[in-house]
Amino acid sequence: MTDVAIGVDIGGTKSLALLVSRDGKILDEDRRQTLHAPDASDAMSDAIAEQITSLCAKHNLDPSKIRVGLGLPGLIRRDGTLAYAPNWQSAHGINLAESLKKQLRSPHIYSDNDANCAALCEHEWGAVKGVDDFVMVTLGTGIGGALFVNGALQRGKNGFAGEIGHMVVNANGAQCLCGGKGCWERYCSGGALQRMTGEAVHAGKLAQLTASLGADNVRAEDVSKAAGEGSEEAMAIMREIGWWMALGLSNLEVLLDSGTYVIGGGLSSVFELVLPAAREYLDELVEAREARPAFRIIPTKFGPNSGALGAALLASEGAK
Ligand SMILES: [Zn+2]
Repeated sequence: MTDVAIGVDIGGTKSLALLVSRDGKILDEDRRQTLHAPDASDAMSDAIAEQITSLCAKHNLDPSKIRVGLGLPGLIRRDGTLAYAPNWQSAHGINLAESLKKQLRSPHIYSDNDANCAALCEHEWGAVKGVDDFVMVTLGTGIGGALFVNGALQRGKNGFAGEIGHMVVNANGAQCLCGGKGCWERYCSGGALQRMTGEAVHAGKLAQLTASLGADNVRAEDVSKAAGEGSEEAMAIMREIGWWMALGLSNLEVLLDSGTYVIGGGLSSVFELVLPAAREYLDELVEAREARPAFRIIPTKFGPNSGALGAALLASEGAK
């Protein structure tokens, strides 16, 4: 086989393709907006195919021979069909790997959930290299997750395991995009920060930001920036999110006994402000704390690149 692979991480907004060497080095990249075609699987797989052929052309690689992995947003059936993708709804029901096999005339296309890909990357090359038990938590608009148990990624019966963002942490709580209420991602994500910012302004909190920006103009990014600069009123929101993060992690800990939580995704840098509180509260919330070794809640090594890197690894591993 070739000693390079292409990994494509397809999110609801952006699609990142990386050309990756066998030892995990990024050789080149291609970033584009994700296409949301109204009804067409062909147009969307065409767009991904073009991203792949464009990278191949730059490096004189044959698209029919190179290994390609796809990290997809949502529930992926074990046959590769995208069963449910709230941020890429026009792609429901398509099997992107199978479409690309035809378009690129290649048998070497693989796909998995994007958080699973990120976990594979961090386990092979990154923050949890050599760690057999951990949970990957990817923070964006919502929360993605992946479970490693005894050194193996857990995909579940249908391929849907690890939907940790939709664990219910507050019965009859905030409405979630999934149709449920009180899901973890409504309390600990970019979307959660946005919601809590609006509620705090409405309740007369965040007085300094409201005074300087106006009540209608305070955004989540203003709160995270102010928290980074040491604002106490902004840090109060970060600590609240930290408590919710700890509650979710405590549920995962009693279920899985993982001990290690890797925080990644596009918003992981913002969430470094949340981690100190999350660590403190996890010690308070988890059952039988004194009987358990110290927890590790750590950032990813590769940040927003870990999904595409892991997709390339999936392709290389699939080719063994
Ligand atoms: Zn939900």
